[in-house]
Amino acid sequence: MTSDTAVRRDRLRAQLADLAVDVALVTNLVNVRYLTGFTGSNAAVLVSADGADVFCTDGRYRTQAAAQVPDLERVIERHCAAALAGRLSAEGVEGIGYESHEVSVDGLADLVTVLAGGQLRSLQRAVEGLRTIKDEGEIALLRQACAIADRALADLIAAGGVCAGRSELEVGRDLDGRMLDHGAEERSFETIVASGPNSAIPHHRPTGRVLERGDFVKFDFGAAHGGYHSDMTRTVVLGEPAGWQREIYDLVHAAQRAGCAAAVVDADVRAVDAAARDLITAAGYGEQFGHGLGHGVGLEIHEAPTVSHLGAGRLADRMPVTVEPGVYLEGRGGVRIEDTLVVRAEGPELLTMTGKELVVL
Ligand code: ZN
Ligand code: ZN
Repeated sequence: MTSDTAVRRDRLRAQLADLAVDVALVTNLVNVRYLTGFTGSNAAVLVSADGADVFCTDGRYRTQAAAQVPDLERVIERHCAAALAGRLSAEGVEGIGYESHEVSVDGLADLVTVLAGGQLRSLQRAVEGLRTIKDEGEIALLRQACAIADRALADLIAAGGVCAGRSELEVGRDLDGRMLDHGAEERSFETIVASGPNSAIPHHRPTGRVLERGDFVKFDFGAAHGGYHSDMTRTVVLGEPAGWQREIYDLVHAAQRAGCAAAVVDADVRAVDAAARDLITAAGYGEQFGHGLGHGVGLEIHEAPTVSHLGAGRLADRMPVTVEPGVYLEGRGGVRIEDTLVVRAEGPELLTMTGKELVVL
């Protein structure tokens, strides 16, 4: 049976001619993991047009590499990129693709020295492009990561953990602990708990501020599972919502539904952003929605595609993206509602299942 990682390397191999290279030297560790399954902190892989792929890591990972990358020739060297480039030079390979968005100026100088003759060309984020479309195994891991986050938030609320008198930091640590209890390897990113006026700060870091009645409390958080990340935002209110709170919540909720409905195969990412943004702008809050609608998610919390008016390209089948509009009223409070969903030919598959009606605690 061909492994998932072998299929991915073949997909990259099929692009080499278009990139005018004979081999791809992949040094970004997330991309190396994607193409080989290796999870260590030092590695590189060569994917060759002729099918003779080679993996490199250092001596610390000899055993781990044998277990995780059994199907590739393995080289053990400290300086992986230079070691693999040295082999190419010895073999007289001409067009060599490298990750120009990842290699440092010093790293490039090293490659030029080792390669002497060969032509270096940018891979133009080819592996990141491949990663936008997930296989069903990846989607299953994302689904589990999202389920962990769903359960953790439900537990937190059921236990009365979101209440006046607790600080943002306390509530955040409580939520983090529940994600770990439900099987998260780690948090996808630093959990956001933003209360009262702080909820108007899109990427607020939790503080010692104590939650009060009348606060919006915004949670943006996720669990990592099998290396894949979930991403979800929910906003609740402590006590009966004021008119302005109900108004912006309903608006963001409607915009979020419109964004999800627009996330279909072949949709232009700018049109998906506009589907949600136009509702918010028409209601007079366009200036208060100052970020893009969403992003891809997978081995990293933020991946291609960028779903925003600044993005480019179209959605495709099996592309997981977030849909996360918000309205932020400085000094008062804000609302964001975010789901992770998978674009599917038959319509979006929602992965974050927590309800989106306004929860009054
Ligand atoms: Zn988020
Ligand atoms: Zn997000």
